[in-house]
Amino acid sequence: MTGTRDGHRGTAGAPPHAAGTPVRAEDRPAAPERSPVLAARHVHKAYAVDGGRKVAVEDISFEVFKGEFVCVVGPSGAGKTTLLRCLSGLMPPTSGETLFEGQAIDRVPEQLSVVFQDYSRSLFPWSKVARNVELPLKVEKVPKAERRARVEEMLAAVGLAGAGDRYPWQLSGGMQQRVAIARALAYRPELLLMDEPFASVDAQTRFELEDMILQIREDFGVTVVLVTHDIDEAVYLADRIVVLSKAPSVVAQLVDIPLERPRNQVRTRNDPEFAHLRTHILELVTGG
Ligand code: ADP
Repeated sequence: MTGTRDGHRGTAGAPPHAAGTPVRAEDRPAAPERSPVLAARHVHKAYAVDGGRKVAVEDISFEVFKGEFVCVVGPSGAGKTTLLRCLSGLMPPTSGETLFEGQAIDRVPEQLSVVFQDYSRSLFPWSKVARNVELPLKVEKVPKAERRARVEEMLAAVGLAGAGDRYPWQLSGGMQQRVAIARALAYRPELLLMDEPFASVDAQTRFELEDMILQIREDFGVTVVLVTHDIDEAVYLADRIVVLSKAPSVVAQLVDIPLERPRNQVRTRNDPEFAHLRTHILELVTGG
């Protein structure tokens, strides 16, 4: 038996055992140690304010592994947006460091994409939807035929097949955020960072967008870090939650979310374990 049950790994890298020779467990190479896609190491951020310093983030460390869906929750003003800006390379921490695949982040890494809450400011109103999604691919000099194919693929993935010829202002807020997500995913980032991406839409649309992002994670295998103040949303989406304390923030706790997948807006939210996790995180956030 020389085959492998891991469909992603061919036999090219397999150890040189003779065909038909059973491989004992102790002879198999040890599984490689998991290395994080993203890491925050003692991130500390202070802003200069009125001649003084305002500490937004005190000391935050955590890691995110390939394929994970990690949510960051904390009270308003806890420094969630500040942390996300440091993680994305848009702003350096005052001390400590952030790493993408082991490399210190000093600018936005190519394999990282960010989606913000304010979709109306992230899309170009004078460009049609397809052009908005295509833009980063043009910057990357992706050939025209491939650009077109990827735009179609991503618009279909966010439920907007056929909407490429419309202008953003002809779409609802939820649809505009779908366009922003399609654009963020068009050049196939490994890591998607999202800052309160569903905070500006109504509750029903929010549920739809949550399910859409879970499906995209399944279909494209992208690693996701999503910042939200909404504890229910974090529990619904995440594999793991980084719970921040009040500002100046530290990590209050890293909480695993073992709820079964696929998640379902009615079934999952009615699971007694969901209520238990939500209460636990609420206590951490409020210090109650
Ligand atoms: P959250 O996203 O958790 O609400 P923020 O990261 O937006 O928190 O803000 C954390 C703290 O840092 C807040 O007190 C905020 O007023 C302050 N802050 C954020 N950005 C700046 C800035 N550019 N200059 C000065 N203070 C800032």
